[in-house]
Amino acid sequence: MSGKGVRNVIVIGGGPAGYTAALYAARAMLEPLVIEGVSWGGQLMITSEVENFPGYPEGVLGPQMMSDLRTQAERFGTEFVTDDVVSVDLSKRPFRVSTDEQELLAKTLIVATGANARQIGLASELALQGKGVSYCAVCDAAFFRGQEVAVIGGGDSALEDALFLTRFADKVTLVHRRDEFRAAPIMVARVEANEKIEILTSMVPEEVLDPDGGRVTGVRLRNTKTGDTSELEISGFFVAIGHEPNTALFLDWLDHDEAGYLITRPRSTATNVPGVFAAGDVQDSVYRQAITAAASGCMASLEAERMLAAEEHEH
Ligand code: NAP
Repeated sequence: MSGKGVRNVIVIGGGPAGYTAALYAARAMLEPLVIEGVSWGGQLMITSEVENFPGYPEGVLGPQMMSDLRTQAERFGTEFVTDDVVSVDLSKRPFRVSTDEQELLAKTLIVATGANARQIGLASELALQGKGVSYCAVCDAAFFRGQEVAVIGGGDSALEDALFLTRFADKVTLVHRRDEFRAAPIMVARVEANEKIEILTSMVPEEVLDPDGGRVTGVRLRNTKTGDTSELEISGFFVAIGHEPNTALFLDWLDHDEAGYLITRPRSTATNVPGVFAAGDVQDSVYRQAITAAASGCMASLEAERMLAAEEHEH
């Protein structure tokens, strides 16, 4: 196919969607290039045990699974650039993709940049990031051995984090803003059955303490029903309130919803720009699973391949 000047396929993003897209494109002899980002691996790098990815009956650690996916894509000739994309020009083909170091050209582009952890937005939260405020229980839980921590959120992530933290912390307080959980009932049942976890509902964090002291010593909570405030002594404040898609680079070019998720055609990964496909969490605010991300990466690759084959046939 083409030389290295204009790539057949550039994949932006090194998560399950990006590596699966690359695996398929590589096996189709398209010599894909993955610009995987400096911190490749995506959200699974900050996940603990993955028990719901088919093919791992005993479960697998997220980073191990990502390393496996990357190795599998590499086996068929995928090339990797371990750098962040800083800008794209999708006004015409070939598309231009720039990192700080180089500009790359592609006939087709697969956007698989995923999503990132959402922040609550408190000034004290920002001030204490890395000083007791964490967005990754799996990464940081071990620092809180024998201590008391809080987890904010009511989805599967928050409950999973709370359960994981009980392996290290003496006590975990799960703080949720409503009195009903978004998480799956089985997760709620596990959390309720865990003696180390206390559940506080209809509560929101008002301030993480103590920004002046330079480390987390507690949190001031407000009851959303009564307006009453109370303080909880903790040394770890774990935020698990969902994610934002990494689409800033693409918003000027690609159709997106109000939350910034890229819009793809139904039953397709095609965006509004012919030749640009989107796969994984960057276009999926509903399922957001590694397996669905990988599946849409496969779809994107097949669609890119078909488009290139049709174009080759025309010429
Ligand atoms: P999520 O389902 O969107 O839940 C976010 C939670 O944070 C919600 O309970 C939400 O409250 C709360 N929240 C949002 N903004 C907040 C704020 N500013 N202050 C306080 N609370 C706030 O996100 P997620 O838990 O990260 O899960 C994302 C997806 O991944 C879901 O589809 C989930 O099922 C999936 N997931 C699956 C597994 C698994 O199967 N093992 C593990 C983790 C995640 P409200 O409920 O009031 O909106």
